[in-house]
Amino acid sequence: MRYSQYFIPTVKEIPADAEVISHILMLRAGMIRKVAAGIYNYLPLGLRSIRKVEQIIREEMNRAGALELLMPVTTPAELWQESGRWEKYGKELLRFRDRKEAEFCMGPTHEETVTDIVRREVRSYRQLPLNLYQVQTKFRDEIRPRFGLMRGREFIMKDAYSFDVDGAAADISYEKMFNAYRRIFQRCGLNYRAVEADTGSIGGSSSHEFMVLADSGEDAIVSCSGCDYAANMEKAEAKQVVVTDGAEPLPLERVATPEKRSIQEVSAFLDAATSSVVKSLVFLADDKPVLALLRGDHELNEIKLKNVLGCETLELAPDAAVEKVTGAPVGFAGPVGLSIRIVADQTVAGMKNFIVGGNDRDLHLKNANLGRDFSVELFADIRNVVPGDACPRCNGGVMEIWRGIEVGHVFKLGTKYSESLKATYLDAAGKEQVIFMGCYGIGVGRSVAACIEQNHDADGIIFPIPIAPFHCIISALNPKDEAVMAAAEQIYNELTAAGVETLLDDRDERPGSKFKDADLIGIPLRIVVGNKNLVNGNVELKQRRGGAVELLPIADAMAKVRQTVAEALAQ
Ligand code: ATP
Ligand code: MG
Repeated sequence: MRYSQYFIPTVKEIPADAEVISHILMLRAGMIRKVAAGIYNYLPLGLRSIRKVEQIIREEMNRAGALELLMPVTTPAELWQESGRWEKYGKELLRFRDRKEAEFCMGPTHEETVTDIVRREVRSYRQLPLNLYQVQTKFRDEIRPRFGLMRGREFIMKDAYSFDVDGAAADISYEKMFNAYRRIFQRCGLNYRAVEADTGSIGGSSSHEFMVLADSGEDAIVSCSGCDYAANMEKAEAKQVVVTDGAEPLPLERVATPEKRSIQEVSAFLDAATSSVVKSLVFLADDKPVLALLRGDHELNEIKLKNVLGCETLELAPDAAVEKVTGAPVGFAGPVGLSIRIVADQTVAGMKNFIVGGNDRDLHLKNANLGRDFSVELFADIRNVVPGDACPRCNGGVMEIWRGIEVGHVFKLGTKYSESLKATYLDAAGKEQVIFMGCYGIGVGRSVAACIEQNHDADGIIFPIPIAPFHCIISALNPKDEAVMAAAEQIYNELTAAGVETLLDDRDERPGSKFKDADLIGIPLRIVVGNKNLVNGNVELKQRRGGAVELLPIADAMAKVRQTVAEALAQ
């Protein structure tokens, strides 16, 4: 490809609405352009990287025995009504009507559509296992689309769905996908970690997220310093260690805390550690109030609380509900004298003489004690893990916390969709059985963005060869010089013929601006053809990563480029 005939609208300025580096660089490198919030054009250069990721995904999915199909974005409401998600999915689901007033949605995921195919076509156990996947546009009306392709509203996803005769067979399908994902992200050149994730109401312990480690990541992930344990923050278990404070219970004391509402304000005002305060949070679980207690320096984990309560919906109670339940303004809730369900984090079980809200304006209580002053229905792990917590799996390991970007997700669905949509098969004995399913997603655009988060420097992107839009760029320093152009074209033709994807920068630009663009768009290898070296038959070969420069005879430079590319693609 000749640069002069290609379309790479690079820009110098940092776009105003771009916060993270991958978004900034993808805009600056002319890879993407915004159409509306969370909706982007993929320009030619950006599309090349996207297609590379898709190709790697296809190769690995096919290798694992999955079959590609393509389902429509447009999904009739009936299928979603059958699964029950039409009501549950909320505002992320973009719904619309056709001219006949029939209701549809833009698919945010395709469990319903794919299960509909399988329930119509699969009759016998002989047709299973089956794994169907697609690479396709999804729409989710995200509340806060941001970070470019990282959290879009319209985005490309690879979604796969496995169908098996029973749970054990479904485990095997899951394992295959898990391993395929490892290969995919490794081949994309990503530094990632597979972590345990919450399975929500679907049950089972089998969901993993593939997280790319990056400071800009929206997710917190937890891993053990001593063993393999890794989970996302929602799921990470806090080890059951109840340290009992041996202190004698002191008399309960009322203390005035005027306008002191937060844990920080109360502990500073009473000159006490935040860990000696018990935080009281009122929630509505399936619309009924529940009080959750946890140590003042800990954070509540809503997913854990929801799982412990076994409720369908859980939300922090709005101010009016808190006032109704506690008889006090927000900021003074406490367990003493309250007649609603009370659950507490297991850490609270060992605490003595702690501070709690007094359920009255400007009032807190000192020296509150479990059993004597109030009772708790249930102690459970309902807090977020903090760095230094003991590992729940090994002895001696401590928890470390990282930021990550979720690029992939594998999930054992069990019979959730096959039951509601009645996807069954006849077993060897002719008996009707429900199919076991799994679903497996990868964010394609998000993977490219995540890769840039991990691979860049002050000058721009540093693409790993497997997903670089081009492998090599030839910078012809003075394209008006016939000898230079002839040499550059010869190199270009030979590399292209050898399968090296090459961009020939034949633009009539200053060398400095050619180099700047080449660095910005992150092409891994650069051959510089200039008349000064060419008279000796040499060109410069520069590695984008690390910046190493070698002066080599033309044939050697080409051989090295071919070898470097071949080695990178063979991994
Ligand atoms: P998140 O928690 O980041 O919203 P999710 O749990 O909703 O992700 P899944 O439903 O598991 O995501 O979707 C599969 C994959 O699709 C994710 O792992 C991610 O890579 C990608 N993805 C999800 N939402 C978006 C989005 N808004 N923009 C780009 N990619 C996305
Ligand atoms: Mg989401």
